[in-house]
Parts: sequence; structure tokens; C-alpha cells
Amino acid sequence: MKREKNKNPIGSKVYLVGGGIASMAAAVYLVKDAEVQGKNIHILEQEDILGGACDGAGEPEEGFVVRGGRMHEEHFVCYWDLLSNIPSYEDSDVSVKDESFEFNSRFVSNSQARLIKDGKKMDVSSFGLSLSDQADLLKLTFVSESSLGNKRIEDWFSQDFFETNFWYIWTTMFAFQKWSSLAEMRRYMKRFIHLVDGLHRLGGVMRTKYNQYHSVIIPIKRYLAERGVHFDMNTQVIDIDFNLSADKKTATVLHIIDNNGDEDEIVIGDNDYVFITNGSLVENTDNGSWSKAPILKDKSTSGAWLLWEKIAKKDKEFGNPGIFSDNIDLQKWYSFTATLKDTTFHDYMENFSGNVDGTGGLVTMTDSNWLMSIVVARQPHFPNQPDDVKIFWGYGLYPDKIGNYVKKKMSECNGEELLEELWYHLQVQDLMKPIVAAGKVNNIPVAMPFIDSLFMPRTLGDRPDVIPERATNFAFLGQFTEVSEDCVFTVEYSVRTAQMAVYGHFDTGKEVIPVYNSIHKPNVLIKAAKAISR
Ligand SMILES: Cc1cc2nc3c(=O)[nH]c(=O)nc-3n(C[C@H](O)[C@H](O)[C@H](O)COP(=O)(O)OP(=O)(O)OC[C@H]3O[C@@H](n4cnc5c(N)ncnc54)[C@H](O)[C@@H]3O)c2cc1C
Repeated sequence: MKREKNKNPIGSKVYLVGGGIASMAAAVYLVKDAEVQGKNIHILEQEDILGGACDGAGEPEEGFVVRGGRMHEEHFVCYWDLLSNIPSYEDSDVSVKDESFEFNSRFVSNSQARLIKDGKKMDVSSFGLSLSDQADLLKLTFVSESSLGNKRIEDWFSQDFFETNFWYIWTTMFAFQKWSSLAEMRRYMKRFIHLVDGLHRLGGVMRTKYNQYHSVIIPIKRYLAERGVHFDMNTQVIDIDFNLSADKKTATVLHIIDNNGDEDEIVIGDNDYVFITNGSLVENTDNGSWSKAPILKDKSTSGAWLLWEKIAKKDKEFGNPGIFSDNIDLQKWYSFTATLKDTTFHDYMENFSGNVDGTGGLVTMTDSNWLMSIVVARQPHFPNQPDDVKIFWGYGLYPDKIGNYVKKKMSECNGEELLEELWYHLQVQDLMKPIVAAGKVNNIPVAMPFIDSLFMPRTLGDRPDVIPERATNFAFLGQFTEVSEDCVFTVEYSVRTAQMAVYGHFDTGKEVIPVYNSIHKPNVLIKAAKAISR
């Protein structure tokens, strides 16, 4: 059935549940392309800050913290389209897109120290794949997604595969686990096949000038604020009523807890809409400190998962949230952000890696029980970061394992202990000891219980369509919706869902930008095939 699109949006109100980049992008497209008035758009966010996963906070004294940093690439077509409309953080005459492309032309990703063993750089010129691994990888790229069902990656490959350079590079670059969705790995192989040739040096990876809160979220927020969009902070949506009949599905009421802690209702009018970011990879994260390990929280206080669970019970087209959120042990990992009032570590890393900061990206300690990696981004990574203060980010994929040096699980370690383990792997204990003793180092660990939830094995129907069949006035946004061909754990996916929701419900005359498809380009395929046989 062809959906009727809104041709008269002037009085339409749109309520966006969640204040991550998916909702913010939807708000931009609503005002820019659908001509919805900014004053009629409400972003309802349970936290006191916008941006969701795209965070970045702190200052030199207390320490900076980013839960993660984003790698982008040239063909994030929806994301760059969005950011081509947004004036950048520091220069209103330059868009965030142009700023980022200019920045990346100066600081080109070309890692010289991608994998480390025994404190030394490994030769990664070969991916180390056997003929049968290569065949498995190629076969995976060309089978249909439906034939894979909810298989795990480890169901497809031999055990040897997981000891190859290829796997170490792959697992740590994208945060796939052996037990992650095989179907999603297939999507990544297809979607990013043009990057496979340069994967060992992070070729083609693009970054923003600063962390994404400052480079992306603040500029979008300013753009929306100038157009009158409402940001309803500390407002949690706890349930949504729908009128579900055989030929129509319509959202009718939002149940919220407002910023005073009071329950309230928002009645959805005839010409109004609700866009819901269902689920979140950064729900219930917790920050530790130099002397305290972070706490691993569960789902019981999670606005995102509880809301999705509630509404999923109302209609089978609204997906299966439990598939993604019921097994925290398979979904969690931990990151940390170190702040140093000293340049010694960064000088050492520049010498050791051969990369000026901002050009290296992930450095992975392959012999770390926690599978620890660090990233030294271009400094300063925060606009308020003084020249003599340096930061770096790190993470570990196996937080339940005991460290090689610190005899504790990663999840039990405070900021100091995490760095002790890192110094050991990089063999810089003696170098760093006096700097730590002088109190010049801080490190904030973060527990992220749902970070890999989007990679959980799934089948069609576990994620709702962006606009479910017969939905008259609502859409789902973000990482837990079904978008054919594109890959989760990317900002591109969230922005794409925003385009799909807006262009699907409103008569904008615009089409969603197609996913960049390099798999049909013979030269790309030949290069990738050569790369995996190197
Ligand atoms: C450590 C890390 C590394 C990453 N690396 C990359 C990378 O290299 N490249 C890349 O492209 N992407 C990366 N990502 C992923 C990317 O940042 C996310 O996929 C994207 O930002 C998700 O945006 P979103 O708006 O869809 O959802 P979210 O950012 O999860 O936002 C959802 C928002 O909705 C709010 N919310 C949820 N439920 C409710 C409710 N019921 N009521 C009110 N508010 C609610 C939440 O508080 C949250 O603010 C990374 C993410 C992390 C955390």
C-alpha cells in the first residue's frame, strides 16, 4: 500500500524520542526539507545533554572523557550530506563537512603501528589468511544475508582465522566479537570492500577536527536552536499508545516523566508525528575515576530498552529488543580516556609508531588478555584543551579477563590500574612512573553494558522497519532499525534512518541517498581479493 505523504506540514508537530544524532538529523531534515516549523519540533531526551553516543566532556583538571571516537569514511553519504548544511564549531562560514574534509586532507590516516606484540610493532603487510580463510571470507561476501540466519561469526570461520592479522585488525577496528552477527560482518565486507586494501593502515578512515560532541553535536544543536527547535531535556518517554487496526497503525499518546520527575502525557494530534530512537548502545554507561572502577549497570533503569520492550509487546512489527539487550556479558566492553599534563607519552608514541598524532589511529596490543587498543587523536581533541595537556583514548574487548600484568579483570580496574597494564604492554613503565608519581596523569574508565548490542546475532524482523507497514504518523530511528545494505555501529546508519523517516512521511520531493556500493566495481574487487591473499 502506498503511504500517503504529508503535503501540508505547517501546523504539524513532530516529537523525537531521544536526543542522539538520529533525532537531531531528523530535526534538521524536517526543517530544511519538509518545511516543518522548528517551533513545532520537540526533541525529548532523558539525559541533560544532547548527542547520545557522540559525547565528549571534561576539562584539564578533572580530566577529559569520550566514551568513544568515530572513524568515518568518504562514503558516509547521508552523514556528510547532513553536515554540509551545518556551520562548523569555530567558523560559521565553513560547514562541518568542509572543515572535516580539509582536516583530513592534512592529517591522513596511515597507521604505521597497527598491531603490537611484546611491545614491538608487528609486520602487518600480510593479513596472514590461509587459502581456506580467504575462501571463507569471499564466500561470506557473496552469499545472501537470509541464508545466514542468526549465525555467529565463529560459526563460519575456522579457529585459525581468529589468530590472523586480519582478524586482529578487523575485531578491534569495528568491535566485532567472535560471537557477533555473521550477517552484520557480511554487510561490513560488502559495504566497506573498497577499504579492505588499506585496512592494515586504516587507509580511508576520516575523523572530525575535535571529538564529535564539539565538532558535530554542538554545531547541529546551534543550527536547530536558531530555528526554534525545542530541546526537552531530562524528559523520559516511558510508553507510547498506538491505535492499531488492520489497515492503520497510529501513535496517539506519549507517556513521559518530565524534568520535574512528574508523569505527564503528550497527545499526538491528527497531523502530528512521533519518531522514536529505539534502543541505545550507550544506555546506562558509568564513569569510574583514577581510583574507582566504573559500575556495570543493568537494564532495569534504562529508558531506551524499557520503552522499546513496552511498545514491542504491542505489535510484532516493532521488533525484539531482548535479542539485543538480554545478554550483557556478550555486549559489554570498557573504554577509558587518559589526560596527561605532560607530553612524554605522546612524544614516545610519535617516535615509536612513526605517526604524528591524528594520523595513526588504533594501536592494538595483540598479546593483551583484555585485547587493549589505544588511539592518539589529533591534539587538541577538545577546544578547551591547552597545548601542554594531551589526551588519548583506549578500550578493551575482553573486560572479564585477568590482565597480563595487573592481576585483575579489566572491569574491576580503576583508571590508574588500566594505565599500569598499558605501560606494561608498551614497555614504558619506567618512563611513565615519575610522571604518574608527580600526579600529572588522570584516567577515566567507562563501563558500557550495551555497546556491542547492535552486533548481536539477529534475523529479519528483530529490528523494526524505519516506517513499519501501515504506520501513519510514526517511525523508528537509529541503530536498531532495519535498513537493507547499510552497517550499524556507524553514525551514517542513524542519519540514513532520519532521511528515511522524514522523506517517507513528508512530501519533500527528495529521495534518500543510496548506500555507496563499491562491490560491483571490478577494480575494487580485484584490489580486495589481492589484499586478502597478501
Ligand atoms: C565507543 C563508541 C565508538 C564508536 N565508534 C564509531 C565509529 O568509529 N564510527 C561510527 O560511524 N560510529 C561509531 N560509533 C557509533 C555511533 O556513535 C552511534 O551509532 C550513533 O551515534 C548512534 O546515534 P543514535 O542517535 O542512533 O543513538 P544514541 O546515540 O544511542 O542516542 C539515543 C538517545 O536517545 C535517548 N533516549 C533513549 N530512550 C529514551 C527515552 N525513552 N526517552 C528519552 N530519551 C531516550 C538516549 O539517552 C540517547 O541520548 C561509536 C559509538 C561508541 C559509543
